[in-house]
Amino acid sequence: MIQEQVRVRFAPSPTGPLHIGGVRTALYNFLFARKHKGTLILRIEDTDQNRFVPGAEDYIVKSLAWCGLDFDESPQKGGPHAPYRQSERSGIYEEYIQRLLESGHAYYAFDTEADLNNLRDQAKVNNTNTFQYDQQTRKSLQNSIALPEAEWKKLIAAGTPYVIRVKIPENEQVIVHDLIRGEVIVSTSNLDDKVLFKSDGLPTYHLANVVDDYLMKITHVIRGEEWLPSAPLHVLLYRFFGWENIKPQFAHLPLILKPDGNGKLSKRDGDRLGFPVFPTEWKDPKTNEIFSGYRESGYLPEAVINIMVHLGWNPGTEQELFTMAELIQQFSLERVGKHGSKFDPEKAKWFNHQYMQQKTEDDLLLLLKPFLEKHSLNPTTEYLRTVLHLVKERAILIPDLWNTSWFFFLRPEKYDSQVFQKIWLPGTSGLLRDFAQAVNLMDDFNKESLHAMVQNFISEAGVKMGQLMNPLRLLMVGSNQGPGMMDLAEVLGKDEFMVRIHTGLEKLNLPDHKTN
Ligand code: GLU
Repeated sequence: MIQEQVRVRFAPSPTGPLHIGGVRTALYNFLFARKHKGTLILRIEDTDQNRFVPGAEDYIVKSLAWCGLDFDESPQKGGPHAPYRQSERSGIYEEYIQRLLESGHAYYAFDTEADLNNLRDQAKVNNTNTFQYDQQTRKSLQNSIALPEAEWKKLIAAGTPYVIRVKIPENEQVIVHDLIRGEVIVSTSNLDDKVLFKSDGLPTYHLANVVDDYLMKITHVIRGEEWLPSAPLHVLLYRFFGWENIKPQFAHLPLILKPDGNGKLSKRDGDRLGFPVFPTEWKDPKTNEIFSGYRESGYLPEAVINIMVHLGWNPGTEQELFTMAELIQQFSLERVGKHGSKFDPEKAKWFNHQYMQQKTEDDLLLLLKPFLEKHSLNPTTEYLRTVLHLVKERAILIPDLWNTSWFFFLRPEKYDSQVFQKIWLPGTSGLLRDFAQAVNLMDDFNKESLHAMVQNFISEAGVKMGQLMNPLRLLMVGSNQGPGMMDLAEVLGKDEFMVRIHTGLEKLNLPDHKTN
């Protein structure tokens, strides 16, 4: 039972586009906040200037909005705890690092990057454990614990660059209470003295994250499993600051795994297996490389939400398709598993197909519009509704609406040569000419009358249905695709039907192989 006023945050670093793992984290935070009538905050964690990518924040905000996720407090909207970009809060963190220095939970370290690299290299050569700045090694390094006070104070006075590290206590077990994993116990002997404050005067992620979660009154930290190793440090920081009793509850979400093999889903898996790993398209500002997005690949946002929600959460029922309102009502962290979920690109398409089928013809019409505009087509709404009714079932992704229907609006310009080779027999052209003549005599042209006429025609001509229908389809649509021929003919109408037979025969430049 959650009694307090829920306040959760999504706290991305603007280092590039948002991977679908990040979208899922945002979604779970959103659902949790909405379910408990709480507040959802967007906080941009941009204290690492080296990894800052221009445009990434805008991308994050817009792509989440496309998914239907909005925030109550954010850099764009403001709010009672503004600013919500950590780079604009730099003045705040100094006070807190001072507190840790004064209480002896943090210390100055003067070791240069070159010194530390040397130690790392030596550890490799000696084949000992990898080098860590920790309770053992700090005793013999350049810091305010190992050096005499007068000496390190002199270094500071002389303007020697330094970082501030956390002083991890010795011989302790840190307990992280995780809502998904239960108790996670880590010995402090395995933790390193992470940098909390950098020589550029900015805090690192760990300090800024904890201080801001405290200041922004965050009640639940819901984030990816990759942050679980940082959680013991965060628990210690809450204790050092004296915030132990008001620290947020943690929930570390399981990894999203590759569709094949083991390991975390990466951008490369998407490239390799041909599915997007980003919600919307992203153009890398440095390389101009384009990364495909769900939106541009023709997915509906409601499908993307359902794809994401099932990667870790299990509703406990057979239901697979949810509206956002249903998700808000049913979502709970108790039903989020600890084990990674494999991403299944086929299932992703299945979800989209399902949501496409739920759309009315009028909804689909809006999705088809851009394709029509591209070809300067402006058919009547009535015609579009009829066409969409016929092709909808085959449309998995949005572009399929056009790919499965274009021939209702345009005549084929090319005819699939492989299909032609296979189905066009000596006599086929003559058969079609005779058929066209018979159609010409029809007064009433609709699918029923055409069906009856075709039955008669093939029995008189002594041919099988396929011998007439396959070539006819090739002339109508240029391939062997499309809905039932009678439906197709009825929608095209007699005039267009006749034109396509004649122009098709002409374009294929076929001699009249009338059966001799
Ligand atoms: N800035 C971190 C990230 O990029 C946030 C981790 C957290 O939610 O604490 O994912």
